[in-house]
Amino acid sequence: MDIEAFRKAGYQAIDRICDYYYLLQDRPVVPSVQPGYLLDALPDSPPEEGEDFAAIADDYQKYILPGLTHWQHPSFFAYFPTACTFEGILGDLYSTSTANPGFNWLASPACTELEMVVMDWSAKLLGLGDHFLHSSGKGGGVIQTTASELALVVVVAARERYMRMHSDTKAESLVIYTTTQTHSLGVKAGLVFGIECRALEVRAEDAYALRGATLKNALEEDQKRGKRPFILIATVGTTSSGAIDRLDEIGEVAKDHPSLWIHIDAAWAGVTLACPEYREVAQLDSINAYATSFGTNFHKWGLVNFDAALLWVKDRKDLTDALDVTPEFLRTKQGDAGTVVDFRNWHLGLGRRFRSLKVWFVLRSYGVEGFRNYIRQGIKLNEHFASLVRASPKFALVTPPSFALTVFRLTPSGPHTFTDSELNDLNRTFYARLSSRHDILLTQTVLNGVFCIRFAVGAARTQQEHVDRAWEILQREGAVAVQEFAQ
Ligand code: PLP
Repeated sequence: MDIEAFRKAGYQAIDRICDYYYLLQDRPVVPSVQPGYLLDALPDSPPEEGEDFAAIADDYQKYILPGLTHWQHPSFFAYFPTACTFEGILGDLYSTSTANPGFNWLASPACTELEMVVMDWSAKLLGLGDHFLHSSGKGGGVIQTTASELALVVVVAARERYMRMHSDTKAESLVIYTTTQTHSLGVKAGLVFGIECRALEVRAEDAYALRGATLKNALEEDQKRGKRPFILIATVGTTSSGAIDRLDEIGEVAKDHPSLWIHIDAAWAGVTLACPEYREVAQLDSINAYATSFGTNFHKWGLVNFDAALLWVKDRKDLTDALDVTPEFLRTKQGDAGTVVDFRNWHLGLGRRFRSLKVWFVLRSYGVEGFRNYIRQGIKLNEHFASLVRASPKFALVTPPSFALTVFRLTPSGPHTFTDSELNDLNRTFYARLSSRHDILLTQTVLNGVFCIRFAVGAARTQQEHVDRAWEILQREGAVAVQEFAQ
Protein backbone atom coordinates (compact mmCIF):
# COMPACT_ATOMS: atom_id res chain seq x y z
CA MET A 1 0.00 0.00 0.00
CA ASP A 2 1.45 3.37 -0.89
CA ILE A 3 0.87 6.64 0.96
CA GLU A 4 -2.09 7.75 -1.16
CA ALA A 5 -3.79 4.34 -0.93
CA PHE A 6 -3.28 4.53 2.84
CA ARG A 7 -4.84 8.00 2.92
CA LYS A 8 -7.91 6.65 1.10
CA ALA A 9 -8.22 3.48 3.19
CA GLY A 10 -7.55 5.49 6.35
CA TYR A 11 -10.36 7.97 5.66
CA GLN A 12 -12.67 5.05 4.95
CA ALA A 13 -11.65 3.35 8.19
CA ILE A 14 -12.41 6.49 10.23
CA ASP A 15 -15.78 6.85 8.46
CA ARG A 16 -16.64 3.26 9.24
CA ILE A 17 -15.57 3.58 12.86
CA CYS A 18 -17.81 6.65 13.23
CA ASP A 19 -20.72 4.73 11.66
CA TYR A 20 -20.04 1.86 14.03
CA TYR A 21 -20.48 4.18 16.99
CA TYR A 22 -23.59 5.85 15.55
CA LEU A 23 -25.24 2.44 15.15
CA LEU A 24 -23.73 0.61 18.11
CA GLN A 25 -26.83 0.83 20.26
CA ASP A 26 -28.83 -1.05 17.59
CA ARG A 27 -26.43 -3.97 17.50
CA PRO A 28 -26.71 -6.95 19.85
CA VAL A 29 -24.19 -6.84 22.71
CA VAL A 30 -23.36 -10.51 22.24
CA PRO A 31 -23.02 -11.97 18.73
CA SER A 32 -25.23 -14.83 17.57
CA VAL A 33 -22.43 -16.73 15.87
CA GLN A 34 -21.69 -20.36 16.68
CA PRO A 35 -18.25 -21.77 17.59
CA GLY A 36 -16.18 -22.25 14.46
CA TYR A 37 -18.13 -19.70 12.40
CA LEU A 38 -15.01 -17.79 11.38
CA LEU A 39 -12.80 -20.83 11.01
CA ASP A 40 -15.32 -22.16 8.49
CA ALA A 41 -15.71 -18.86 6.68
CA LEU A 42 -12.04 -17.99 6.10
CA PRO A 43 -9.61 -19.82 3.79
CA ASP A 44 -7.13 -22.26 5.34
CA SER A 45 -4.05 -20.49 3.94
CA PRO A 46 -3.04 -16.91 3.12
CA PRO A 47 -3.63 -15.75 -0.48
CA GLU A 48 -0.80 -16.40 -2.95
CA GLU A 49 -1.31 -13.01 -4.59
CA GLY A 50 -1.83 -9.82 -2.60
CA GLU A 51 -5.45 -8.64 -2.49
CA ASP A 52 -7.03 -5.27 -2.95
CA PHE A 53 -7.34 -3.51 0.42
CA ALA A 54 -10.92 -2.44 -0.30
CA ALA A 55 -11.91 -6.13 -0.33
CA ILE A 56 -9.99 -6.78 2.89
CA ALA A 57 -11.71 -3.83 4.61
CA ASP A 58 -15.09 -5.10 3.42
CA ASP A 59 -14.36 -8.53 4.82
CA TYR A 60 -13.70 -6.96 8.21
CA GLN A 61 -17.26 -5.64 8.11
CA LYS A 62 -18.63 -8.90 6.76
CA TYR A 63 -16.84 -11.52 8.86
CA ILE A 64 -15.21 -9.91 11.88
CA LEU A 65 -17.68 -7.34 13.17
CA PRO A 66 -20.54 -9.87 13.38
CA GLY A 67 -18.38 -12.05 15.62
CA LEU A 68 -17.46 -9.35 18.14
CA THR A 69 -18.90 -8.91 21.61
CA HIS A 70 -19.48 -5.18 21.88
CA TRP A 71 -17.81 -4.07 25.09
CA GLN A 72 -18.61 -0.45 24.27
CA HIS A 73 -22.32 -1.17 23.97
CA PRO A 74 -24.38 0.80 26.50
CA SER A 75 -26.00 -2.45 27.70
CA PHE A 76 -22.67 -4.12 28.48
CA PHE A 77 -22.64 -4.73 32.25
CA ALA A 78 -20.32 -7.74 32.39
CA TYR A 79 -16.84 -8.24 33.89
CA PHE A 80 -15.54 -4.69 34.20
CA PRO A 81 -15.71 -2.10 31.45
CA THR A 82 -12.84 -1.73 29.03
CA ALA A 83 -12.26 1.84 28.04
CA CYS A 84 -12.42 3.15 24.50
CA THR A 85 -12.28 6.85 23.78
CA PHE A 86 -11.66 8.55 20.48
CA GLU A 87 -8.63 10.22 22.05
CA GLY A 88 -7.37 6.75 22.94
CA ILE A 89 -7.96 5.46 19.42
CA LEU A 90 -6.05 8.39 17.98
CA GLY A 91 -3.24 7.86 20.47
CA ASP A 92 -2.95 4.25 19.30
CA LEU A 93 -3.06 5.33 15.67
CA TYR A 94 -0.27 7.86 16.05
CA SER A 95 1.82 5.55 18.17
CA THR A 96 1.59 2.65 15.76
CA SER A 97 2.28 4.95 12.83
CA THR A 98 5.86 5.48 13.94
CA ALA A 99 6.38 1.99 15.45
CA ASN A 100 8.78 2.78 18.25
CA PRO A 101 9.74 -0.07 20.55
CA GLY A 102 11.24 2.46 22.96
CA PHE A 103 13.00 0.09 25.32
CA ASN A 104 15.93 2.42 26.07
CA TRP A 105 15.82 6.17 26.39
CA LEU A 106 17.93 6.39 23.24
CA ALA A 107 15.62 4.04 21.32
CA SER A 108 13.19 6.98 21.28
CA PRO A 109 13.69 9.67 23.89
CA ALA A 110 10.11 10.94 23.51
CA CYS A 111 8.66 7.50 24.37
CA THR A 112 10.53 7.33 27.65
CA GLU A 113 10.10 10.93 28.70
CA LEU A 114 6.40 11.12 27.81
CA GLU A 115 5.83 7.97 29.86
CA MET A 116 7.60 9.59 32.82
CA VAL A 117 5.47 12.70 32.40
CA VAL A 118 2.12 10.90 32.15
CA MET A 119 2.94 8.54 35.01
CA ASP A 120 3.66 11.54 37.24
CA TRP A 121 0.50 13.28 35.98
CA SER A 122 -1.57 10.16 36.63
CA ALA A 123 -0.07 9.73 40.11
CA LYS A 124 -1.06 13.30 40.90
CA LEU A 125 -4.51 12.76 39.43
CA LEU A 126 -5.00 9.83 41.81
CA GLY A 127 -3.47 11.61 44.79
CA LEU A 128 -0.56 9.18 45.11
CA GLY A 129 2.27 10.32 47.37
CA ASP A 130 5.30 12.14 46.01
CA HIS A 131 7.42 9.06 46.69
CA PHE A 132 5.74 7.34 43.71
CA LEU A 133 6.74 10.11 41.30
CA HIS A 134 9.61 10.01 38.83
CA SER A 135 10.40 13.51 39.96
CA SER A 136 11.23 12.06 43.42
CA GLY A 137 14.31 10.52 41.78
CA LYS A 138 13.64 7.28 43.71
CA GLY A 139 10.17 5.99 42.92
CA GLY A 140 8.36 6.13 39.62
CA GLY A 141 5.75 4.66 37.34
CA VAL A 142 5.73 2.53 34.24
CA ILE A 143 2.96 1.40 31.90
CA GLN A 144 2.56 -2.37 31.66
CA THR A 145 0.25 -4.44 29.49
CA THR A 146 -2.13 -5.91 32.08
CA ALA A 147 -2.57 -6.10 35.82
CA SER A 148 -1.59 -9.78 35.59
CA GLU A 149 1.71 -9.08 33.84
CA LEU A 150 2.27 -6.17 36.19
CA ALA A 151 1.91 -8.63 39.08
CA LEU A 152 4.66 -10.80 37.58
CA VAL A 153 6.98 -7.81 37.52
CA VAL A 154 6.16 -6.96 41.11
CA VAL A 155 6.54 -10.55 42.34
CA VAL A 156 9.94 -10.97 40.71
CA ALA A 157 11.08 -7.64 42.18
CA ALA A 158 9.72 -8.55 45.62
CA ARG A 159 11.45 -11.93 45.49
CA GLU A 160 14.80 -10.40 44.57
CA ARG A 161 14.47 -7.82 47.30
CA TYR A 162 13.57 -10.45 49.88
CA MET A 163 16.46 -12.72 48.87
CA ARG A 164 18.87 -9.79 49.17
CA MET A 165 17.54 -8.96 52.63
CA HIS A 166 17.56 -12.63 53.76
CA SER A 167 20.33 -14.38 51.88
CA ASP A 168 19.79 -17.64 53.81
CA THR A 169 16.30 -18.07 52.24
CA LYS A 170 15.63 -21.29 50.39
CA ALA A 171 13.60 -20.66 47.23
CA GLU A 172 11.10 -23.39 48.13
CA SER A 173 10.18 -21.66 51.40
CA LEU A 174 8.90 -18.53 49.66
CA VAL A 175 5.17 -17.79 49.76
CA ILE A 176 2.98 -15.25 47.98
CA TYR A 177 0.02 -14.03 50.04
CA THR A 178 -3.29 -13.24 48.41
CA THR A 179 -6.84 -13.65 49.63
CA THR A 180 -9.59 -15.95 48.44
CA GLN A 181 -10.94 -12.90 46.59
CA THR A 182 -7.72 -11.84 44.83
CA HIS A 183 -7.86 -11.95 41.06
CA SER A 184 -6.31 -15.06 39.49
CA LEU A 185 -3.17 -13.01 38.87
CA GLY A 186 -1.81 -14.11 42.27
CA VAL A 187 -2.13 -17.81 41.55
CA LYS A 188 -0.79 -17.25 38.06
CA ALA A 189 2.30 -15.49 39.40
CA GLY A 190 2.81 -18.47 41.71
CA LEU A 191 2.57 -20.84 38.74
CA VAL A 192 4.97 -18.82 36.62
CA PHE A 193 7.62 -18.60 39.33
CA GLY A 194 6.95 -21.98 40.94
CA ILE A 195 6.15 -20.33 44.28
CA GLU A 196 3.42 -21.36 46.71
CA CYS A 197 0.50 -18.97 46.74
CA ARG A 198 -1.49 -18.86 49.97
CA ALA A 199 -5.00 -17.41 49.77
CA LEU A 200 -5.95 -15.93 53.15
CA GLU A 201 -9.54 -16.30 54.23
CA VAL A 202 -11.92 -13.35 54.23
CA ARG A 203 -15.40 -13.25 55.71
CA ALA A 204 -18.78 -12.19 54.38
CA GLU A 205 -19.33 -10.08 57.49
CA ASP A 206 -16.22 -8.08 56.60
CA ALA A 207 -17.58 -7.60 53.08
CA TYR A 208 -14.82 -9.94 51.86
CA ALA A 209 -12.03 -7.60 52.93
CA LEU A 210 -8.76 -8.93 54.33
CA ARG A 211 -8.37 -7.94 57.99
CA GLY A 212 -5.12 -7.27 59.80
CA ALA A 213 -5.70 -10.06 62.33
CA THR A 214 -5.94 -12.66 59.56
CA LEU A 215 -2.67 -11.48 58.09
CA LYS A 216 -1.00 -11.47 61.50
CA ASN A 217 -2.12 -15.05 62.22
CA ALA A 218 -0.93 -16.25 58.83
CA LEU A 219 2.47 -14.62 59.29
CA GLU A 220 2.86 -16.27 62.70
CA GLU A 221 1.77 -19.66 61.36
CA ASP A 222 4.14 -19.44 58.44
CA GLN A 223 7.02 -18.41 60.62
CA LYS A 224 6.46 -21.61 62.62
CA ARG A 225 6.29 -23.65 59.38
CA GLY A 226 9.61 -22.18 58.23
CA LYS A 227 7.85 -20.43 55.35
CA ARG A 228 8.88 -17.02 54.03
CA PRO A 229 5.97 -14.87 52.89
CA PHE A 230 7.64 -12.13 50.87
CA ILE A 231 4.73 -10.34 49.19
CA LEU A 232 1.10 -9.64 49.95
CA ILE A 233 -1.13 -8.79 47.01
CA ALA A 234 -3.93 -6.77 48.56
CA THR A 235 -6.85 -5.45 46.54
CA VAL A 236 -8.82 -2.24 46.34
CA GLY A 237 -11.92 -3.35 44.46
CA THR A 238 -11.92 -7.13 44.04
CA THR A 239 -13.26 -8.63 40.84
CA SER A 240 -16.12 -10.59 42.35
CA SER A 241 -17.59 -8.00 44.67
CA GLY A 242 -15.46 -4.84 44.72
CA ALA A 243 -14.15 -5.62 48.22
CA ILE A 244 -11.51 -3.32 49.63
CA ASP A 245 -8.93 -4.96 51.87
CA ARG A 246 -8.31 -3.17 55.17
CA LEU A 247 -5.04 -1.57 54.21
CA ASP A 248 -4.92 0.41 57.46
CA GLU A 249 -4.83 -2.80 59.51
CA ILE A 250 -2.60 -4.59 57.03
CA GLY A 251 -0.14 -1.72 57.11
CA GLU A 252 0.03 -1.79 60.90
CA VAL A 253 0.75 -5.54 60.91
CA ALA A 254 3.32 -5.16 58.14
CA LYS A 255 5.29 -2.65 60.21
CA ASP A 256 6.71 -5.66 62.09
CA HIS A 257 7.62 -7.32 58.77
CA PRO A 258 9.63 -4.75 56.83
CA SER A 259 10.67 -7.24 54.16
CA LEU A 260 7.04 -8.04 53.24
CA TRP A 261 6.32 -6.23 49.97
CA ILE A 262 2.79 -4.86 49.86
CA HIS A 263 1.39 -4.63 46.38
CA ILE A 264 -2.02 -3.03 45.93
CA ASP A 265 -3.98 -4.33 42.98
CA ALA A 266 -6.54 -1.65 42.21
CA ALA A 267 -6.91 -2.73 38.59
CA TRP A 268 -10.51 -1.64 38.33
CA ALA A 269 -11.26 0.65 41.28
CA GLY A 270 -8.00 2.58 41.41
CA VAL A 271 -9.35 5.30 39.14
CA THR A 272 -11.90 6.32 41.81
CA LEU A 273 -8.95 7.89 43.64
CA ALA A 274 -9.16 10.69 41.09
CA CYS A 275 -12.25 11.92 42.96
CA PRO A 276 -11.38 13.43 46.34
CA GLU A 277 -14.70 12.22 47.79
CA TYR A 278 -13.79 8.53 47.23
CA ARG A 279 -10.24 8.68 48.52
CA GLU A 280 -11.17 7.71 52.04
CA VAL A 281 -13.17 4.62 51.00
CA ALA A 282 -10.43 3.59 48.60
CA GLN A 283 -7.93 4.10 51.45
CA LEU A 284 -5.59 6.51 49.77
CA ASP A 285 -3.82 7.41 53.01
CA SER A 286 -2.97 3.77 53.66
CA ILE A 287 -1.89 3.24 50.06
CA ASN A 288 0.49 6.14 50.43
CA ALA A 289 1.66 5.02 53.86
CA TYR A 290 2.12 1.29 53.28
CA ALA A 291 2.17 0.26 49.62
CA THR A 292 5.48 -0.82 48.14
CA SER A 293 3.77 -0.80 44.75
CA PHE A 294 0.39 0.17 43.39
CA GLY A 295 -1.27 -0.76 40.12
CA THR A 296 -4.39 0.37 38.33
CA ASN A 297 -5.64 -0.22 34.80
CA PHE A 298 -6.59 2.93 32.97
CA HIS A 299 -7.79 0.55 30.25
CA LYS A 300 -10.62 -0.65 32.45
CA TRP A 301 -12.57 2.32 33.76
CA GLY A 302 -9.97 5.01 33.12
CA LEU A 303 -10.80 6.19 29.60
CA VAL A 304 -7.62 4.86 27.99
CA ASN A 305 -7.84 2.13 25.37
CA PHE A 306 -6.47 -1.31 26.08
CA ASP A 307 -3.71 -1.75 27.10
CA ALA A 308 -2.61 0.61 29.84
CA ALA A 309 -1.91 -1.01 33.20
CA LEU A 310 -0.19 1.60 35.32
CA LEU A 311 2.31 0.53 37.96
CA TRP A 312 4.05 2.70 40.51
CA VAL A 313 6.83 1.65 42.85
CA LYS A 314 8.29 3.39 45.86
CA ASP A 315 11.77 2.41 44.81
CA ARG A 316 12.59 1.95 41.14
CA LYS A 317 15.80 0.17 42.11
CA ASP A 318 13.71 -2.78 43.26
CA LEU A 319 12.61 -3.22 39.65
CA THR A 320 15.94 -2.62 38.01
CA ASP A 321 17.84 -4.81 40.50
CA ALA A 322 15.54 -7.66 39.51
CA LEU A 323 15.15 -7.04 35.79
CA ASP A 324 18.23 -5.26 34.46
CA VAL A 325 19.93 -7.52 31.97
CA THR A 326 22.23 -5.49 29.74
CA PRO A 327 24.18 -7.25 27.01
CA GLU A 328 26.64 -5.13 25.06
CA PHE A 329 24.21 -4.47 22.21
CA LEU A 330 21.78 -2.77 24.58
CA ARG A 331 24.29 -0.50 26.25
CA THR A 332 24.06 3.22 25.62
CA LYS A 333 26.13 6.16 26.73
CA GLN A 334 23.18 7.64 28.64
CA GLY A 335 22.26 4.32 30.24
CA ASP A 336 25.85 3.72 31.35
CA ALA A 337 25.99 7.19 32.83
CA GLY A 338 22.76 6.50 34.76
CA THR A 339 21.27 9.79 33.63
CA VAL A 340 18.18 8.29 31.98
CA VAL A 341 15.42 5.79 32.64
CA ASP A 342 15.60 2.69 30.43
CA PHE A 343 12.14 1.19 30.75
CA ARG A 344 13.26 -2.23 29.45
CA ASN A 345 14.51 -2.80 33.01
CA TRP A 346 11.07 -2.05 34.46
CA HIS A 347 9.05 -4.76 32.74
CA LEU A 348 9.26 -8.29 31.34
CA GLY A 349 9.77 -7.77 27.63
CA LEU A 350 12.32 -5.69 25.81
CA GLY A 351 10.39 -3.84 23.12
CA ARG A 352 7.41 -1.91 24.35
CA ARG A 353 4.50 -0.05 22.81
CA PHE A 354 4.32 3.74 22.95
CA ARG A 355 1.34 3.61 25.30
CA SER A 356 1.95 6.90 27.01
CA LEU A 357 0.73 8.77 23.94
CA LYS A 358 -2.88 7.68 24.39
CA VAL A 359 -2.72 8.41 28.13
CA TRP A 360 -1.44 11.89 27.31
CA PHE A 361 -4.19 12.49 24.74
CA VAL A 362 -6.89 11.35 27.17
CA LEU A 363 -5.63 13.30 30.18
CA ARG A 364 -5.26 16.48 28.18
CA SER A 365 -8.56 16.19 26.40
CA TYR A 366 -10.64 15.32 29.48
CA GLY A 367 -8.65 17.24 32.06
CA VAL A 368 -8.81 16.30 35.73
CA GLU A 369 -12.43 17.46 36.05
CA GLY A 370 -13.57 15.57 32.96
CA PHE A 371 -11.91 12.40 34.23
CA ARG A 372 -13.52 12.79 37.64
CA ASN A 373 -16.94 13.46 36.19
CA TYR A 374 -16.75 10.33 34.10
CA ILE A 375 -16.01 8.22 37.19
CA ARG A 376 -18.76 9.98 39.13
CA GLN A 377 -21.25 9.23 36.38
CA GLY A 378 -20.50 5.49 36.59
CA ILE A 379 -20.91 5.50 40.36
CA LYS A 380 -24.15 7.46 40.10
CA LEU A 381 -25.60 4.97 37.61
CA ASN A 382 -24.61 2.10 39.85
CA GLU A 383 -26.21 3.79 42.86
CA HIS A 384 -29.37 4.07 40.80
CA PHE A 385 -29.25 0.37 39.96
CA ALA A 386 -28.56 -0.60 43.59
CA SER A 387 -31.53 1.51 44.73
CA LEU A 388 -33.80 -0.44 42.33
CA VAL A 389 -32.55 -3.73 43.78
CA ARG A 390 -32.99 -2.50 47.34
CA ALA A 391 -36.55 -1.40 46.68
CA SER A 392 -37.55 -4.73 45.12
CA PRO A 393 -39.04 -7.52 47.24
CA LYS A 394 -37.80 -10.06 44.67
CA PHE A 395 -34.10 -9.23 44.59
CA ALA A 396 -31.44 -8.60 47.21
CA LEU A 397 -27.94 -7.19 47.35
CA VAL A 398 -25.37 -9.82 48.27
CA THR A 399 -22.67 -7.32 49.27
CA PRO A 400 -22.78 -3.55 49.69
CA PRO A 401 -22.47 -1.88 46.25
CA SER A 402 -18.88 -0.96 45.52
CA PHE A 403 -18.29 2.12 43.35
CA ALA A 404 -19.75 1.02 39.98
CA LEU A 405 -20.39 -2.64 40.84
CA THR A 406 -23.48 -4.23 42.38
CA VAL A 407 -23.63 -7.89 43.31
CA PHE A 408 -27.18 -9.13 43.70
CA ARG A 409 -29.42 -12.16 43.37
CA LEU A 410 -32.98 -13.21 43.00
CA THR A 411 -34.63 -13.79 46.41
CA PRO A 412 -38.35 -14.18 45.72
CA SER A 413 -40.79 -14.01 48.55
CA GLY A 414 -43.92 -16.17 48.52
CA PRO A 415 -45.41 -19.31 49.96
CA HIS A 416 -42.31 -21.39 49.24
CA THR A 417 -39.28 -20.90 51.46
CA PHE A 418 -36.12 -21.58 49.48
CA THR A 419 -33.21 -23.45 51.01
CA ASP A 420 -29.72 -22.05 50.36
CA SER A 421 -29.11 -24.69 47.74
CA GLU A 422 -32.46 -24.06 46.04
CA LEU A 423 -31.73 -20.35 45.94
CA ASN A 424 -28.42 -21.07 44.26
CA ASP A 425 -30.14 -23.31 41.71
CA LEU A 426 -32.81 -20.69 41.11
CA ASN A 427 -30.18 -18.05 40.50
CA ARG A 428 -28.30 -20.34 38.16
CA THR A 429 -31.52 -20.79 36.18
CA PHE A 430 -32.04 -17.03 36.23
CA TYR A 431 -28.50 -16.40 35.04
CA ALA A 432 -28.80 -19.05 32.31
CA ARG A 433 -31.82 -17.14 30.99
CA LEU A 434 -29.92 -13.84 31.09
CA SER A 435 -26.88 -15.24 29.39
CA SER A 436 -28.90 -16.70 26.54
CA ARG A 437 -29.92 -13.17 25.57
CA HIS A 438 -27.99 -11.09 23.08
CA ASP A 439 -29.21 -7.62 24.03
CA ILE A 440 -27.52 -7.41 27.43
CA LEU A 441 -24.49 -8.96 29.12
CA LEU A 442 -23.83 -9.53 32.80
CA THR A 443 -21.47 -11.97 34.53
CA GLN A 444 -21.89 -14.24 37.51
CA THR A 445 -19.77 -15.06 40.52
CA VAL A 446 -19.79 -17.18 43.67
CA LEU A 447 -19.13 -15.60 47.06
CA ASN A 448 -18.57 -18.08 49.90
CA GLY A 449 -20.82 -20.61 48.19
CA VAL A 450 -23.49 -18.08 47.21
CA PHE A 451 -24.15 -17.89 43.47
CA CYS A 452 -24.79 -14.29 42.51
CA ILE A 453 -24.80 -11.88 39.60
CA ARG A 454 -22.58 -8.88 38.99
CA PHE A 455 -23.79 -5.66 37.45
CA ALA A 456 -20.79 -3.53 36.46
CA VAL A 457 -21.34 -0.06 35.05
CA GLY A 458 -18.76 2.00 33.22
CA ALA A 459 -19.13 1.65 29.45
CA ALA A 460 -18.80 5.22 28.21
CA ARG A 461 -22.18 5.32 26.46
CA THR A 462 -24.28 3.84 29.26
CA GLN A 463 -27.01 6.21 30.47
CA GLN A 464 -29.77 5.82 33.02
CA GLU A 465 -32.19 4.67 30.31
CA HIS A 466 -29.94 1.63 29.68
CA VAL A 467 -29.80 0.80 33.37
CA ASP A 468 -33.58 1.07 33.57
CA ARG A 469 -33.96 -1.18 30.55
CA ALA A 470 -31.59 -3.70 32.08
CA TRP A 471 -33.66 -3.65 35.25
CA GLU A 472 -36.84 -4.36 33.28
CA ILE A 473 -35.15 -7.32 31.61
CA LEU A 474 -33.87 -8.62 34.94
CA GLN A 475 -37.33 -8.42 36.49
CA ARG A 476 -38.95 -10.19 33.54
CA GLU A 477 -36.34 -12.94 33.38
CA GLY A 478 -36.44 -13.28 37.15
CA ALA A 479 -40.19 -13.86 37.09
CA VAL A 480 -39.85 -16.50 34.35
CA ALA A 481 -36.99 -18.19 36.22
CA VAL A 482 -39.14 -18.44 39.36
CA GLN A 483 -41.97 -19.97 37.31
CA GLU A 484 -39.64 -22.40 35.57
CA PHE A 485 -38.14 -23.38 38.86
CA ALA A 486 -41.53 -24.04 40.44
CA GLN A 487 -42.46 -26.57 37.70
N1 PLP B 1 -7.26 -7.32 39.25
C1 PLP B 1 -8.57 -7.08 39.37
C2 PLP B 1 -9.10 -6.59 40.67
C3 PLP B 1 -9.42 -7.27 38.27
O1 PLP B 1 -10.72 -7.05 38.41
C4 PLP B 1 -8.88 -7.73 37.06
C5 PLP B 1 -9.76 -7.95 35.90
O2 PLP B 1 -10.92 -7.71 35.90
C6 PLP B 1 -7.51 -7.97 36.99
C7 PLP B 1 -6.74 -7.76 38.09
C8 PLP B 1 -6.88 -8.51 35.74
O3 PLP B 1 -6.64 -7.50 34.86
P1 PLP B 1 -5.77 -7.74 33.55
O4 PLP B 1 -6.69 -8.26 32.53
O5 PLP B 1 -5.25 -6.37 33.24
O6 PLP B 1 -4.70 -8.70 33.89
